[in-house]
Formats: sequence, structure tokens, C-alpha cells
Amino acid sequence: MRKLTILGSTGSIGVNALRIVESHPDRFCIEALAAWTNMEKLAEQIEKFRPKVVSVADAARAKELRSMIKRRVKVLHGAEGAITCAMHDSSDMVLSAMVGAAGLAPTLAAVKSGKTLALANKETMVTAGEIVMREAKAARVKIIPVDSEHSALFQALRGEKMKTLRRVILTASGGPFINTPKDAMGSLTLEQALRHPNWRMGRKITIDSATLMNKGLEVIEARWLFNLPAEKIEVVVHPESVIHSMVEFNDTSIIAQMGLPDMRAPIAFALSHPDRQETQLPTLDIATVGKLTFQPPDLERFPSLALAYDALRMGGSATAVLNAANEVAVQAFIDKRISFTAIPQVCEKALTMADNGKAATMAEALAIDRRGRAYAREAVEQISRTSPYPSRG
Ligand code: NDP
Repeated sequence: MRKLTILGSTGSIGVNALRIVESHPDRFCIEALAAWTNMEKLAEQIEKFRPKVVSVADAARAKELRSMIKRRVKVLHGAEGAITCAMHDSSDMVLSAMVGAAGLAPTLAAVKSGKTLALANKETMVTAGEIVMREAKAARVKIIPVDSEHSALFQALRGEKMKTLRRVILTASGGPFINTPKDAMGSLTLEQALRHPNWRMGRKITIDSATLMNKGLEVIEARWLFNLPAEKIEVVVHPESVIHSMVEFNDTSIIAQMGLPDMRAPIAFALSHPDRQETQLPTLDIATVGKLTFQPPDLERFPSLALAYDALRMGGSATAVLNAANEVAVQAFIDKRISFTAIPQVCEKALTMADNGKAATMAEALAIDRRGRAYAREAVEQISRTSPYPSRG
């Protein structure tokens, strides 16, 4: 029986993970759940999965939750509450599925306390990938990627020698604006950006997929998870989202991992690693898919991807600053304060304050994150004047 903690249990990844747990009660049980604001969903999860401890955003929500549940469960709150869940004695695996750099502290706490880590929270790797990998090595902790692209790479690389790897190729769906002309991009709305053609996900990652920053964050995540230089990480647009990523070896063989675009497959793989387990997902009917297509990413229309490569090459504080600025800019777009095209503008401006000062500790990484956010908030103020959210008229 695998004993799980889920950080971000009320989100898209968390809910899909719990569907897998529910269909395999003989294999998994839930020890701890960390949510943030969605008390209704967390209350349902408590009744169904009977965790020993849960955590929410603040004391007021903890009180509200206690009034909603019949079951006796320890209710913690705040960042400390999530960290306590991450370190919970009786769990042996932690699924890190919070959104944003807020996931860094609990994810690192899980690693340091020796839990196997199923990692969805890519912002943690973009903010402090080197630190996470160093701590995982020190604690002899395995990190199993949940992101479908990194899960694909992880699966394609099983049993291979890393020195024979020539490059990895991350696939990108291209998002909802794959065919949108450049001059129409400034007037795109939030509702349009939230309409992803292939994947149902949380709001932040859906906007990141529309700007292609999501692919940029994944390039940085791959750099740390697989210890690869930027030159060995390529991106190709593949609108069908059937190939989840590919690896090429020194003999030119390319191995691709395929499947329907459903996050339950990579989540199930991570939760049951090193085994595989049956899922109730429909299988991929290749003949019905018919053809698979590929094209290079258009960095002019999607400058966020180029910014991620720039940040990776700059090193120092750059990727942490980029992540912080992107979180601020995406929220400003969600709040309808800036245009879609202003998101990469804010990130580009914020990158000018990045320096050689690489974080050696989590506290330093969080300090860079705070400075990046403060700078990006000023950039949003300025850029919202020249590139505001489109008005209806
Ligand atoms: P959602 O927005 O759906 O869920 C986010 C979760 O994090 C919720 O449980 C939310 O709680 C919690 N949360 C929000 N803010 C905070 C905070 N400040 N501190 C602690 N917890 C917080 O996101 P997704 O599930 O889509 O994504 C989660 C992570 O997984 C992201 O890093 C994303 O990039 C990555 N990922 C997601 C994929 C997907 O298909 N969704 C695919 C690959 C990677 P509440 O709702 O209670 O407020």
C-alpha cells in the first residue's frame, strides 16, 4: 500500500490523482491533503479519502472547514500547514501539485524528509531546480515527473545511458492561438486564452500554454530533472498532443512516448512507479488519429519561449526572476489589467533586473522570487498604460 500526501489536492492535478486513488483502493491510501481556498471540495475529499491531516490557506478557512466536516481530522493552515503535510511521518510519497512558486517550500520539505516526490509543480524547478536536485541527491530521494512531457522523457530514457543521449524534444500543442496572426494577438481576451484545444487544466497553466511560457518553463524543468544543457533541449509544435515528447540517441534513433492527452496517464505512472498499473482510460486509436503533424515554434508570435531559453543561458537569478514575473503578469491578465501580449513584455522587462547572484539556499531563492515579483508589479503598472486589457467596444 502506497501512502500518499497530495499538495494541491483541490486543483486539476490533485483531483485527477484522487480519481486514480479512488479506483485503486488496494494500492493507495491518503495520509495528508493540502488545499488553499476551496473548502467545499476539500470537505468532500476528507469524507471520501479520510486523511489524517489537512491544510488550508488561513485560520478563517480552517474554522469554516471544521464546521463543514463530520470526520475528526487535524486541520492546519498557512504555508507552515502545507509544509507539515509535506513532511507527514506516515506518508511515503508526496505529489507536489500546488500552483506557482508557493510550492517550493513544501516540496523541498518533502524531499528533505526523504519522501519520494511525484512532481507536477514545475514553478518549483524553475525557481530553484539546482537546490531541489542537490537536496534530492543528499536525501537519496527519487523525483518522478508528472508533467506529461517530462514523464514521456523519463519513460523513454528508462534503462538507457545518459551519455548516449543526443537531445530531447519537448512537444507543444501550440495552444489556442497556434494560427492567430501576430497583429491580432494584442486584442485576445481571457475567455479565448482559457479555451485550450486539448487539455483541461488550472487557469495559470492554461494561460501559460497560450503564451507558450508553459513550454519555456518545461525547458527549464527538463534542464534540472535530466541534467541537460539548453542546447540539448528542443521544442516542436505538435497540435494533436499524441506524442508527449521524444528522445534522440547518438545512433539517431528517436524514441517517442504516445498516448491520449489525459493527465491521469502520467499521474498514474508517477504514483505507481517503478511499476505500471492499469487505468480505465480509453486507449489511443492510431488509425483514427490518422496523421501526426509537427512544426517549429514561432518565437516571434510567442516570445515567452525565447525568454525562457534566454533566462536559462543567463543563469544566476534569471529563471527565478522569470518565473516570478510570469506569475505576476499572468495574474494581471486574469484580472484584465494588461493585454495578452503584455505578459511577455512584463517578463522581458523583469529579466533586466536578473543578475549573476545564483540562490544557494531556499531562503535566497525566495528572496529572488520576492524581488522579481516587486519589479514585475511595477512593470505591470507601466505596461498597462500602453498595453491595457482590450475593451469590449
Ligand atoms: P490548479 O489551479 O487547478 O490547482 C492549484 C492547486 O494549488 C489547488 O489545490 C489550489 O488550492 C492550490 N493553491 C493555489 N494557490 C496556492 C498557494 N498560494 N499555496 C498553496 N496552495 C495553493 O492548478 P493545476 O492542477 O492545473 O496545476 C498544478 C501544478 O501542476 C502547476 O504547477 C502546473 O504547472 C502543474 N501541471 C499541471 C498540469 C495540468 O494538467 N493541470 C499538467 C502539468 C503540470 P485551492 O483550489 O483550494 O485554492
